[in-house]
Amino acid sequence: MLRLWANAQPQDAGKRKLEDFMPRPLLHALPALTQQLAGLARLHSQHAGEDGSLRLAVTLHDGQLIESVLLRRDGLCVSTQVGCAVGCVFCMTGQGGLLRQLSSGEIVAQVALARTLRPVRKVVFMGMGEPAHNLDAVLEAIDLLGTGGGIGHKNLVFSTVGDERVFRQLPEQRVKPALALSLHTTKAALRAQLLPRAPRFDPADLVMHGERYARATGYPIQYQWTLIEGVNDGDDEIDGIVQLLHGKYALMNLIPYNSVDGLSFRRPSWERAADMARQLHRRGVLTKLRQSAGQDVEAGCGQLRARSATPVSRPQRTVTIHALHGR
Ligand code: SF4
Repeated sequence: MLRLWANAQPQDAGKRKLEDFMPRPLLHALPALTQQLAGLARLHSQHAGEDGSLRLAVTLHDGQLIESVLLRRDGLCVSTQVGCAVGCVFCMTGQGGLLRQLSSGEIVAQVALARTLRPVRKVVFMGMGEPAHNLDAVLEAIDLLGTGGGIGHKNLVFSTVGDERVFRQLPEQRVKPALALSLHTTKAALRAQLLPRAPRFDPADLVMHGERYARATGYPIQYQWTLIEGVNDGDDEIDGIVQLLHGKYALMNLIPYNSVDGLSFRRPSWERAADMARQLHRRGVLTKLRQSAGQDVEAGCGQLRARSATPVSRPQRTVTIHALHGR
């Protein structure tokens, strides 16, 4: 039953008639169960981006709104929490704090819902929320998606700011997802300012944990770097990245910052971002320069929800980051 649901197929999609194999009590309960599963995540609105992405605002059973994004090439980015407690200073979701956890059912329900619109062959846990803060539910969802849900294990991407429990538990799972680590800077003090409530990892320790997992699973670690003008786009950071990642089984994703109403951070020019990617490549770090999906449709994490839930615009918030530049 769960397999069919996760694949957005009707319960009578199999070759055999339900009455031939399903216990009678379950058969009777099936319509109510199907309705309950459908109620876990309902489409509130959809917003097509020029880049081929489709951003979904999704209503949960209690009326809370979350976001999922259908990406090009059959990918889906899902949320794991309503809000987030990490409080990254550049992120809209981080400004509101954590409202509640999603259940594993609500996480898989985003996939089931998205599959009614497009095929989904890859799921990245990079939407609203920090997956490590809802670890049991996320691991349960990963297990279902990587078995009955038909998603290849390395096409499930667990994204985190870094957490001891994740590094301990992920290698023990039956379904081992790929891992993405939000690095954002090579300087521990700056990282503490940018990600105020993330566990205090020295970037070198984070990479050490990442490398261990990459070697254990055979998939490279993706390092996420939200590129912010004047904050982490300096030559000193390029040197730091080369020092950390040269020779590692890793892919660096540079993602120019997507402006957020009410926050004062800016994206660097495309030329600067491209130049950083080129320099890193030349110095032996496999690097991709990526646009975040659906920029033209309020694509920053949590922006759609903020638009739908808070019609009154927020006052401009100026965030002061001390001693960041170093160049
Ligand atoms: S960037 Fe991710 S971890 Fe940071 S506050 Fe936003 S949702 Fe949370």
